Amino acid sequence: MTIGNLSSKIRQMPSTHSVVMVPCLPIPIKNRNIPHKQLDGQRQTDREVLNEVLRRVHQPLTFKQHPSAESGYYNVLCADGNFRRCNLVLSAWLADCTEYRDLHHLERHFCFWCECPKNELGDYVHSDKQHPRWDHNLDRTLSDANANSADADLSLRHVHRGFNVFRHNPCIVSDLPKPDLLHTMHIGKLDHLQKWIFHVMKTHERLDKLNAISLSVPAYHDLTPKNNSYEEVSQWNGKEMKEISRYLLGVVTQSLRGGSPAQRTIFNRAIQCTQALLEFYMYARYKSHNDATLSYMEEALHRFHTFKDVFLLGRAGNKANAKADALRMELVKERKVDKETNAETWTPSKNRREMHAWRDYISHEIDISKELDADFNFPKIHLMSHWAEQIR
Ligand SMILES: [Zn+2]
Repeated sequence: MTIGNLSSKIRQMPSTHSVVMVPCLPIPIKNRNIPHKQLDGQRQTDREVLNEVLRRVHQPLTFKQHPSAESGYYNVLCADGNFRRCNLVLSAWLADCTEYRDLHHLERHFCFWCECPKNELGDYVHSDKQHPRWDHNLDRTLSDANANSADADLSLRHVHRGFNVFRHNPCIVSDLPKPDLLHTMHIGKLDHLQKWIFHVMKTHERLDKLNAISLSVPAYHDLTPKNNSYEEVSQWNGKEMKEISRYLLGVVTQSLRGGSPAQRTIFNRAIQCTQALLEFYMYARYKSHNDATLSYMEEALHRFHTFKDVFLLGRAGNKANAKADALRMELVKERKVDKETNAETWTPSKNRREMHAWRDYISHEIDISKELDADFNFPKIHLMSHWAEQIR
């Protein structure tokens, strides 16, 4: 817990103890230890336990339960020995996507700021055309109603039923989440970008180049000397991500030099997409903003969405990959039949040409199949569209 009137410089220095620990929150039992049939029930219990703990922690904030706070103001003894009249309001809660989802009783893969449908999370949304904010008052009314029809409405809204502590506190629930560089950018979007870049480099056989160039970046201006190549790093932490963002664009641009005309189109889009996301990130790190810097930030986000399709194949999940593998097996069988049928009529050079054509056709079909099953609909890509509005 911290208070709002500290400068960020003081707040960010651990030695000033500007953030104090209030409770240890319960750690729920691991899902893999629970029989599948009991999973939903256990999750509901976990939510109830968490909310009961938070209810007790937040009790002093609930005015009606405090005898000296009829007007909503407390006399608070401050560190300088003086009493001040204070109005306590819970103003921010910093957490990662999944924690917000639990805290706000939302189902998986939904934005905790707005009611954006799941299948539109990957789309660009201008700051003037945002989806409506979550109506937590409506969720509270439906939860309090404790009726089957209300539960059905909650389910349609992708909200879990049950008591939620934030809906009973002096705060604006939809204002509690704040733009969060660590969770949304360092270990969120930039981490995704690294994986997508890796995928493009691997597909176009540029990994060796990428490794060599990233290892050759000299350790100057506070950059840490590199011991591992790009490929050898399995997971980047927030600090490493912040550092690599300073030279990633240079490394990617150099690694993607040359190539066939078809490759150049892909490479240029990959470079432009990387540049746009890094620009958005750099603007997001400004300590202060005005309308101009926010418009640059928005413009970078728009550019990122314009070029992001170049990384769509890197978004193919296990399901899409399994489907593509099945398709590959089917096409390889067709190729074999074709080869056997024409074995007597094809000359060796015709055979070579046909096999090359088959290889290109199979790889093209596999890419199309993966692209059809891949999308960008995940919360962290969507959260960036709220940043300009949140900063304002
Ligand atoms: Zn949203």
